[in-house]
Amino acid sequence: MKITIASGKGGTGKSTVAANLAYTLARSCEVVLVDCDVEEPDLHLFFPASAVDVPVTTPVPEIDPARCTLCGECGKFCHFGALSVLKDRVLIFPELCHSCGGCVLVCPQGAVREVPRTVGRVACSRPLPALTLISGVLNEGEVQAPTVIKAAKMLAEGHPLTLYDASPGIACPVIETLEGSDVCVLVTESTPFGLHDLRLAAEVAERVGIPAGVVINRSDGQDEATLGFCRERGLPILMTIPFSREIAAVQNRGGLICRDLPGWEERFTGLFSEIVKIAGVSL
Ligand code: SF4
Ligand code: SF4
Repeated sequence: MKITIASGKGGTGKSTVAANLAYTLARSCEVVLVDCDVEEPDLHLFFPASAVDVPVTTPVPEIDPARCTLCGECGKFCHFGALSVLKDRVLIFPELCHSCGGCVLVCPQGAVREVPRTVGRVACSRPLPALTLISGVLNEGEVQAPTVIKAAKMLAEGHPLTLYDASPGIACPVIETLEGSDVCVLVTESTPFGLHDLRLAAEVAERVGIPAGVVINRSDGQDEATLGFCRERGLPILMTIPFSREIAAVQNRGGLICRDLPGWEERFTGLFSEIVKIAGVSL
């Protein structure tokens, strides 16, 4: 089963939920936790361990000046502004290239070939006997987050139980993370901003056709608006984590509430049971 933990905005506690759920599950079975928040991966902070890095590359064009006639076809084709045909040469801006391969196809002289370019890495570690952590890390200034997410997910392929921690928001990286998931857990807070972003995230999950449920984090007990929205959209509430100094203190020191506070491992086990119900898959 593949579970995506997502949120419409940052700072809702999405990674906290993912880390606690992974820790709880790893007490009784093999789990792979994939950090797909490749611009700011942070799950390694919960699970410090030495990691093996695998570089992530993407193909970008290289021009053979001996063959190029400066006809301009590649520049006209590239919608990303990654190629500019000047009077005496073709300029390439590799960081703008989306690796579509189109310039190779349209060049009438066969003057374009693809060469690999490193855009990030995937770090693999084994912080617990039954937990594998795979973290995608996008190099600074790069735009190809989906490429790194795809590489991280590919390394986790074939494992029976995988958790994907998506990046916040509803952009391409989240869609890439959701791809192939059986179920989506939306983490939110009961604030007007939280509800606004939950609406957007729920719509994305619905459009991608993945069943979803909601975890309300830092609840102050005034959850009526969120509960009303979830009722209206048929989104089950999977778990509510109250706002408490005790929980905040554990989280602020990078701890796990399921390990450090009594009763929370059972509650995260219960969360998993609820997730299995809405996913409708057998393990
Ligand atoms: S399409 Fe080929 S020949 Fe034409 S400018 Fe581009 S690289 Fe040169
Ligand atoms: S591979 Fe696609 S995006 Fe990259 S330079 Fe060529 S046409 Fe542009």
